[in-house]
Amino acid sequence: MYTELQNFLKKELSSIEEAGLYKKEREILSSQQAKIRVGDKDVLNFCANNYLGLSNNSRVIDAAKKAMDSHGFGMSSVRFICGTQDMHKQLERAISDYFGTEDTILYASCFDANGGLFEPLMGPEDAIISDALNHASIIDGVRLSKAVRYRYANGNMEDLERQLQLAQAQRFRIIATDGVFSMDGNVAPLDRIVELAEKYKAIVMVDECHSAGVVGPTGRGITELYNLRGKVEVLTGTLGKAFGGAVGGFTTGKKEIIDLLRQRSRPYLFSNSVPPAVVGASLEVFRMLSQSDEIHDKLAANIKHFIGGMKAAGFDIKPTQSAICAVMLYDARLSQQMAAALFDEGIYVTGFYYPVVPKDQARIRVQVSAGHSIEDLDKCKDAFIKVARKFGVLK
Ligand SMILES: *Cc1c(COP(=O)(O)O)cnc(C)c1O
Repeated sequence: MYTELQNFLKKELSSIEEAGLYKKEREILSSQQAKIRVGDKDVLNFCANNYLGLSNNSRVIDAAKKAMDSHGFGMSSVRFICGTQDMHKQLERAISDYFGTEDTILYASCFDANGGLFEPLMGPEDAIISDALNHASIIDGVRLSKAVRYRYANGNMEDLERQLQLAQAQRFRIIATDGVFSMDGNVAPLDRIVELAEKYKAIVMVDECHSAGVVGPTGRGITELYNLRGKVEVLTGTLGKAFGGAVGGFTTGKKEIIDLLRQRSRPYLFSNSVPPAVVGASLEVFRMLSQSDEIHDKLAANIKHFIGGMKAAGFDIKPTQSAICAVMLYDARLSQQMAAALFDEGIYVTGFYYPVVPKDQARIRVQVSAGHSIEDLDKCKDAFIKVARKFGVLK
């Protein structure tokens, strides 16, 4: 039985390889942090979403261990049968406090949070208006809903307005957008989106995965950046990036929306509870962030230092308001060759090209972390300059 499918899969795999799109995974021998061990090499890591440098923080690790001692390893259940511990409720409250929202529901990942959001909320009479560059998990979540779908060009408010006008034919409308778009590092124009939502009677959903912990004066995300705390109906986010980097996701926002998700959201109802170690560690993360803005201040200073330095050196950097710095090279091969040369210089970064980014928009993406020292950032910049001169990108 398998032979025919096997041959088909082999062909499929070789066509992926021939197109140069086969993803190879480098094995890291250390924990996730600024300096990591890859094979027999120590390199500075500039391609993790470890924005607050908490992935290997000792307070977070101790909290995970303590939670395992007090609450065990796994829950062997979903939340509504016998999988809810006191800690789950405490973490949901801590996340609501952090974002200034009414209530929060935990998921095993933000992929699940987005996957389980739209189907219970929006029926065939309703409309979802989605940014064209939204994350795959939002796209999949929208597909699972029977609502009428509209799409607007990335951050394009004229287009959003047109789509909202068309969507007046439906009963309820939800605008869905990433907070920070991960390839450029640009933020969604949330002030304009909320204005249009009011004008055209829509609610707003923002995915905070790359913005929470990063943007806004104290890092509390896109609603803090735009002075709209508590004004956006639904936010989704991950515990797998700035907030410790393990796993877990959440949806936070209006009380009735969260309540209905607890009743009807399929990834919540039919998938296991977030394990105690992750919950305990995440509680410690939100405790640390509520006690002091020091870590976020360091991230903000690091971003300023690095991007300022790269621009002064003459690099073409996409306008960014986040910890994502896209060094534009425009040529796919060059992006791969330069990333490899940077690795040889001890700098781990990734080159992206079509179809991950638009044609002729190849780039190397650098992600800055509070875990980097100024010395790390300068080493990265100096390596970029050295390699860029070699490839004729800088004179
Ligand atoms: C990473 C990411 C997700 C998925 O989060 P997980 O918790 O890893 O599943 C969803 N949306 C966006 C915008 C992301 O960047």
